[in-house]
Amino acid sequence: MLSDYEAAEIERRFREGEKGPVAITWVGKLLEDRRERLRHQAYLRTRVKAAFVYLDKLLEGKSASLPTGRICPKCTREYEVARPHAASRGKVYVHSGGKECLVPE
Ligand SMILES: [Zn+2]
Repeated sequence: MLSDYEAAEIERRFREGEKGPVAITWVGKLLEDRRERLRHQAYLRTRVKAAFVYLDKLLEGKSASLPTGRICPKCTREYEVARPHAASRGKVYVHSGGKECLVPE
């Protein structure tokens, strides 16, 4: 993830008219930074959903098992194991019962 200093430096150099391969490299870095922030946001949303389900069960008086913290970002259910996907840069989340969810990069 880009630091605030790096982002400010890129913005300043663009305003000064920086063009060419350096600018293209920065655009690539900014796009990667955006993808990383979106992944982080999606992960946080899955954790908030899991916490809501847990607290809602407690309010209903049902015994709720503590979440393991291993929440699949695709289906928001708990998973057993996560491993890298061999054919892409994504991850495979394996659930109990064998169901697998592929999450692309
Ligand atoms: Zn899943």
